[in-house]
Amino acid sequence: MSHVMNTYARLPVAFVRGEGCWLWDTNGRRYLDAMAGVAVCGLGHGHPRFVAALREQIGGLIHTSNLYEITLQEKLADRLAAISGMDNVFFCNSGCEANEAAIKLARLYGHSKDIEAPAIVVLEKAFHGRTIATLSATGSRKVQAGFEPLVAGFVRVPFDDLAAVKRVAENNRNVVAVLVELLQGEGGVNVCADNYLQGLREICDAQGWLLMLDEVQSGTGRTGKWFAFQHAGARPDVMTLAKGLGNGVPIGACLAAGAAAQLFKSGSHGSTFGGNPLACAAALATLAIIEDERLMENAVKIGDFIRGELAQRLAGTKGVKEIRGKGLMIGIELDYACGELVQQALERGLLINVTVDNVIRMLPPLVFTGEQAELLVATLTPLITEFLSRQNADQPAAQTA
Ligand SMILES: *Cc1c(COP(=O)(O)O)cnc(C)c1O
Repeated sequence: MSHVMNTYARLPVAFVRGEGCWLWDTNGRRYLDAMAGVAVCGLGHGHPRFVAALREQIGGLIHTSNLYEITLQEKLADRLAAISGMDNVFFCNSGCEANEAAIKLARLYGHSKDIEAPAIVVLEKAFHGRTIATLSATGSRKVQAGFEPLVAGFVRVPFDDLAAVKRVAENNRNVVAVLVELLQGEGGVNVCADNYLQGLREICDAQGWLLMLDEVQSGTGRTGKWFAFQHAGARPDVMTLAKGLGNGVPIGACLAAGAAAQLFKSGSHGSTFGGNPLACAAALATLAIIEDERLMENAVKIGDFIRGELAQRLAGTKGVKEIRGKGLMIGIELDYACGELVQQALERGLLINVTVDNVIRMLPPLVFTGEQAELLVATLTPLITEFLSRQNADQPAAQTA
């Protein structure tokens, strides 16, 4: 019996080594990594400049404490403020913690306006984490079931629906903020309309709400800009980051601007590990390499190529509902639950994922090459067409549904 708690249905493979976008398992077999550890290892595995930066930092200093000044934390906050236009940063260790900080900011903001039970607008299919507050904000019964009572103070509306947010504004005097992913990851690689952020900004300004973006998955270059909101030209008041920020070294960040940046006072919030020298060195190196190697440009080029090739090769295939995404967040929605494709791809040496049962999801490292993109498409498309021809034959009714 395993002594590890049973929280994941793990695939039967263990990796021992990585180089770029390739991973090797315990049998020496090689796999093309189109997941990057769920949008974490943007620089791929074993990036020489990243490894050297970490080695140097580990030899110098790993951890002190937030009881003391941390020069690298100041430096990373400066850098994040410069690339985001935000004013300041709270550092933690994961995405759910970054969102916890955002939720606490929203509640402080509400209390500062004498709202005793502040509420936050959240979206259907949202994913914000697994802590009690963030699973309450998450729009998935699967994530919440069994953990009731949920934290109060969340009002749910459909994704990409400005009219629904306006209705909440008219009917609920307790709302103080909205918390959204502009590109939902776990929820199925759902892309909002181009005017959604601008629309939210206008509602938030009119209502005096904080506009809070969860960019834990979409941030740090993945969509082709540093942050997904930068495609749309409106700035949030709060933004959360984690996954790709440290290229595998755990780090989370909650950024704030304007009034939201002044809410926490000394003692309001904290973290033992948050923003320690090792994590900050990892994030600084990650950001420098993304910029120097033009990896955001690469994400756009390779992402568009993969979506284009998939669209061409799967054109007219019954059962393919939509191919979507932005940069290197890529989703293929099928008419059928397709979890079995993950194992089939693994057997062919390719790492992919399926989310919300029927959306194939890929989150390749930002260093993915054109050749690797071609191999990905060439490996995946026959798996999809064979899977769909089996499904369509079994369930002919679904074809016309
Ligand atoms: C992964 C994810 C989280 C949770 O991050 P953890 O580091 O697992 O706590 C929160 N929000 C989004 C959008 C995510 O993709």
